[in-house]
Amino acid sequence: MCGIIGYAGNKNAANVVISGLKRLEYRGYDSAGIAQVSATAGQPLLLVKAAGKVAELEGQLGKQLDNPTDQQASGLAIGHTRWATHGEPTTENAHPHLSQDGNFAIAHNGIIENYLTLRSKLTQKGYEFISETDSEVIAHLIQDVYEGDLQAAVMTTLGQLEGTYGLIVVSSLHPDTLIAARNGSPVVIGIGQGETLIASDISALISHTKRVVYLDDGDVVTVSKDSFDITSLKNVPVSRDATEIDWNVEEIEKGGFDHFMLKEIYEQPTALTNSLRGRLDLKGATAKLSGMQLGPSDLAHIDRITIAACGTSMYAGMVGKYLFEDFASIPTDVVQAAEFRDRNPIMQRDSMMLAISQSGETADTLAAVREGVRKGATILGLCNVVGSTIARETGRGVYLHAGPEISVASTKAFTCQVAVLAMMSVLLGRTHRMSAESANRVISELTRLPELAQAVIDQEDKIAKIAEKYAHIEHAFFIGRGYLFPAVMEGALKLKEISYVHAEGYHAAELKHGPIALLTKDIPVIVAVPESSGKAKTIANMQECRARKAPVLAIATAGDTDIHAHSDDIIEIPRCEEFVAPIPVVIAEQLFAYHMARLRGCEIDQPRNLAKSVTVE
Ligand code: GLU
Repeated sequence: MCGIIGYAGNKNAANVVISGLKRLEYRGYDSAGIAQVSATAGQPLLLVKAAGKVAELEGQLGKQLDNPTDQQASGLAIGHTRWATHGEPTTENAHPHLSQDGNFAIAHNGIIENYLTLRSKLTQKGYEFISETDSEVIAHLIQDVYEGDLQAAVMTTLGQLEGTYGLIVVSSLHPDTLIAARNGSPVVIGIGQGETLIASDISALISHTKRVVYLDDGDVVTVSKDSFDITSLKNVPVSRDATEIDWNVEEIEKGGFDHFMLKEIYEQPTALTNSLRGRLDLKGATAKLSGMQLGPSDLAHIDRITIAACGTSMYAGMVGKYLFEDFASIPTDVVQAAEFRDRNPIMQRDSMMLAISQSGETADTLAAVREGVRKGATILGLCNVVGSTIARETGRGVYLHAGPEISVASTKAFTCQVAVLAMMSVLLGRTHRMSAESANRVISELTRLPELAQAVIDQEDKIAKIAEKYAHIEHAFFIGRGYLFPAVMEGALKLKEISYVHAEGYHAAELKHGPIALLTKDIPVIVAVPESSGKAKTIANMQECRARKAPVLAIATAGDTDIHAHSDDIIEIPRCEEFVAPIPVVIAEQLFAYHMARLRGCEIDQPRNLAKSVTVE
């Protein structure tokens, strides 16, 4: 969840690390720190840490560097932006952590599960701990086993750790070397001209290089400015292929928008165009998704689908379930990814498992993938980040091509996930019962997605005005039925994530089975009620809400005058088929949540307690 970065090169390492941390800040942002190595072996490491955002750290670092120091900084430094798992987000708990003798510094992402045992052993040996983190044991352990060879000391230490890590180590005794290791938390190497970088993800690297190598679990890499050597934990050399990244720096900048979230909402027509490009085949009445690597006879055998995902991806997965069942007649389950593993799920011979994760690093989803592998399932990844762990471990799947998503609250990933799932449903449908005619009806509707998205975005001002009316609320319900049920679950999630309004998504029929008891004039109900088979019933549910004086905000089809009599406010979406309606409905909800958060003065791109890429279980 946190971001780690290391730099070896000729540039000012502190500047590279700070700008890299800013790029990584979306991953975790409760505290940050940097350790820079002196050019002279044996001189102390320069360590600066601060609670709060990277900007705090930058300020502290500036002050520190203004003070006279005998430190002649080298081009080697490591940095960390934290998402606390053990111990509060204080300066002491911020990384990097130093060994007791001050010679070793570590930045760690993940959780060391046996840290209490290690901590008590080290305490008995006289080591004193400064932080409450699980991570600090790593620094002291390295000191404890060090006999002149940094790589050997790191290897021995890794052998004692249980849990997950993306780890970077530096030492004042080895001013030219960085060591990094991966087990369960992503680490990528950036290969530049006379410089080498290490980071949790490529956003921190791409202003320096587009050539990267992803580490696998069990890899340890020793890095200098002009070289890197990867070995296994047993010190056997390992070779990993380099990949060229096709994202560019502009894509990871705000480009004139106040927030990444708004920029990414606006990018949805383009993102959808990119997701669909070259994948719809009207002539063959099917979809082309070559990354699935399944031919017609493999596809025809699939008789059950299990989707494992978390959060927004899980709600996209729910839309996927409806699509697979409607168009391909394949029974589909959607399982919260952690629950997939905890419940020992049944995977039959002809089951297909689909793991959905924007980052491709979600630890719970990755754990589900690994459990699926153990059960011999055919597993596909549906990820946005090319080369991410889930994409590599599944080895087959479909990329979203949504472009980088930086905002913690996911927007364009959701709509592109739904678009990809719809294309998969056509492909699977055609090897099951779907006629060419029905496939082409679905395909032509899918080609409208960019225009549907744009039509909702064009109403931003109107949605912002409506948000003004509701900005004071503390609770809200979202209701919908059929394809709109997952859409309202996602709408409620978006609102709570960024505006901290307590919001609950329910099936429209379910409200009366309990939650309706809570309704008052101060609790609005946001209702997804575009033209659809369930519209009349949902209107009845709206009346039930209004009878309890709850204000009703409807998301309805443009020009649908029936709705006026049953709602206080209306956001219009263009007329479309029911199975694509989640896309415009969710975009309306994204804009509503965004403006609610803005009016409430919330930190939209970095909501409290959250992190973008959830790499802990
Ligand atoms: N478990 C470590 C801590 O709480 C690292 C957390 C992170 O990945 O940011 O300090």
